Amino acid sequence: MRLIMLGAPGAGKGTQAANLAKELNIPHISTGDIFRANIKNGTELGKKAKSYMDAGKLVPDELVCDLVADRIAKDDCKEGYILDGFPRTIPQAEALDKAVLALGTKIDYAVNIDVPDEAIITRMGGRRACLNCGATYHVQYNPPKKEGVCDTCGHPLVLRDDDKPETVQTRLNVYHEQTQPLIDYYDKKKILVTVDGTQSMDQVFSDILKAVRA
Ligand code: ADP
Ligand code: ADP
Ligand code: ZN
Repeated sequence: MRLIMLGAPGAGKGTQAANLAKELNIPHISTGDIFRANIKNGTELGKKAKSYMDAGKLVPDELVCDLVADRIAKDDCKEGYILDGFPRTIPQAEALDKAVLALGTKIDYAVNIDVPDEAIITRMGGRRACLNCGATYHVQYNPPKKEGVCDTCGHPLVLRDDDKPETVQTRLNVYHEQTQPLIDYYDKKKILVTVDGTQSMDQVFSDILKAVRA
């Protein structure tokens, strides 16, 4: 199964992608996690991406399209994958179409997690991230077993620089301008599934599973 997760920053893409990856036994590919790992390791790519990310802007398409095309061509993606945070622009979606076609495959579903902006703003302040393994938590809705420590890998949890309220507003504007048009793009291809992302995490998860297994 090849899935794309769509939705505003904070809609729950990462949370659901991680659950789906476990359930379906396919890799969870988060471009945000890939960039953050590159920043942490001080790579050239990380240096280039950092200023855009800190400003809440998108990293240029040319820095992300080839990276994803290479990633989905790897052996562990043969049975499928879940793309989280990619594509985010129409040119990225077109690059993905080309890459899947070249592999003789197709995307099965684009899952749109629908959450209104008001709910996003309150959610983001409480998000805590593990920069080591990519797990995300919420101080209220999904707290770790031990405060400030990742359940999965034991590393410290942080409030991401780009989760500060002023940057969240910029990211939401960028989402509406550049990423939201993808909803129409995948609707026209008849592979769009929309779920109500304001429900509990478990309910969102079961709605997604129902839709992609139908
Ligand atoms: P969120 O899960 O909150 O939406 P991500 O971790 O997906 O955030 O992305 C964080 C930042 O990484 C984005 O604001 C953007 O700067 C950069 N980024 C991630 N994926 C892409 C992409 N496909 N195209 C451009 N920039 C990206
Ligand atoms: P995205 O990857 O779309 O940016 P995340 O999966 O990181 O979003 O979720 C953003 C924040 O909201 C996290 O703190 C997460 O724990 C929390 N969250 C995710 N889904 C829900 C939900 N259904 N209800 C309440 N909080 C949620
Ligand atoms: Zn971790």
